[in-house]
Amino acid sequence: MSKPEVDWDACEGCSTCEELCPEVFKVMDNGKAHVIGPDKCNTCNCQEAANMCPDQAIKFVD
Ligand code: SF4
Repeated sequence: MSKPEVDWDACEGCSTCEELCPEVFKVMDNGKAHVIGPDKCNTCNCQEAANMCPDQAIKFVD
């Protein structure tokens, strides 16, 4: 199953992904979204988070 990754060079820390998928993404002290639950992606709507990310910073890897 593919898992989400965040490109920190692109992420602006807007928290949109965290609001949509709080089990998967969390914006940390460095102002970037971290993937805290890569295997939780099937219980939320990570594709929506990727679509809504203003920086297209969320990718999916196998
Ligand atoms: S939605 Fe995109 S820019 Fe916003 S915190 Fe998440 S990864 Fe970063």
